[in-house]
Amino acid sequence: MKKESKENDLMEKIVSLAKRRGFVFQGSEIYGGLAGTYDWGHFGVALKNNIKQNWWKKFVDSRRDMYGIDAAILMRQEVWQATGHVANFADPLDGKQFNTMLKTQVGAGEEATVSYLRPETAQGMFVNFKNTVDAFHPKLPFGMAQIGKAFRNEIAPRDFLFRQREFEQMEIEYFIRSVDWEKYFEYWRSEMLDWMQELGLDMGRVHELEVLDADRAHYSKRTIDFEFDFPFGRKELFGLAYRTDFDLKTHKLEYVDEENSEKIVPHVIEPSMGVDRAVLSLLISTYTEDEKDGEVRSYLKFKPNIAPVICAVSPLLKNKPELVEYANAKVYAPLKEEFGRVAWDDNGNIGKRYRRQDEIGTPFCIVVDFDTLTDDSVTVRDRDTGEQERIKVEDLKKYIKGKI
Ligand code: ATP
Repeated sequence: MKKESKENDLMEKIVSLAKRRGFVFQGSEIYGGLAGTYDWGHFGVALKNNIKQNWWKKFVDSRRDMYGIDAAILMRQEVWQATGHVANFADPLDGKQFNTMLKTQVGAGEEATVSYLRPETAQGMFVNFKNTVDAFHPKLPFGMAQIGKAFRNEIAPRDFLFRQREFEQMEIEYFIRSVDWEKYFEYWRSEMLDWMQELGLDMGRVHELEVLDADRAHYSKRTIDFEFDFPFGRKELFGLAYRTDFDLKTHKLEYVDEENSEKIVPHVIEPSMGVDRAVLSLLISTYTEDEKDGEVRSYLKFKPNIAPVICAVSPLLKNKPELVEYANAKVYAPLKEEFGRVAWDDNGNIGKRYRRQDEIGTPFCIVVDFDTLTDDSVTVRDRDTGEQERIKVEDLKKYIKGKI
């Protein structure tokens, strides 16, 4: 098959798997769908949460110089006037410029004011710069981090999760002294690459694009787009920008060094990542097909810490109460309590259950059979190799913890 049609095929398979297995549905589907919106099903939410938690752990919890924030989506329109979004956040449409901010109204009657659903999470951090400095007295360099929804009235939403009208961002604004910008730009570039690798992206598909002067936002002195080979072409996955002191100056904010009372306007390095593009690139990176017992099977090769389901528990036969009771009380309940992301699967024969869990990307399937009743051991089947091991029930938690 030609490379192009193979990639088209891959995209179709991923969209259909995502729906069939309860990851992602078209928004407002039963009313014909609302373009550029998606609803997340049980496994999609779990996957997204794992990605976000992983990001937060690496970039906030495990650091001493990062301050989290969760700012309101609605902000005063002055914010967007000051930043130039009201005048310039536009795409060309039929020769005229179309502003892609989603406009809304706050309040009623004559009191009503225009507002916008934020088109980026970044400004929620800049407008809280002073609050953060006053509350925590951080020393430079330090960062602010936020995960949250952003909205853009994209003229042509397309390519599944890639270009939506409502999506989520994970952004960091890292405040530095201007002389240090090159050092911290390189630092964040390598942190971003590390995270992509830790997530499990196919790094062979990731490329860095040095954005040329003419294509860069006016406030940025240097931008790198991390591009990804999506089935529909090489496109931006994440971005890294040196935003200079543009934003803090715009909002007339400054920083006073508490040691020597020096007043400065810090400069900013911004690593910006889309949650939805992270999910899409991860689905593309992990989707695998192989042949097992003369049959093609497809599976998502998620790392255990990212997989929506860490393990599934099955009684070999669902009409044998002794198996069901054992599986439920001695295996499923304690694992569920420990890991949360544990599925109960007793639907269809074992082969069918394995196929289903493979498509969800469940790394381990645990089967309780008649031998279990006498030897207190279960079969644990590995998603990738299909190999099965006998593990003592009392060792299961330790076994799974060792894999995370
Ligand atoms: P593009 O050029 O593809 O429109 P952008 O350069 O406008 O993207 P940024 O403003 O840099 O994107 O936004 C930061 C990140 O947010 C992007 O790298 C991407 O991961 C994500 N993102 C931006 N727009 C969308 C969208 N419409 N749907 C899903 N994710 C998006």
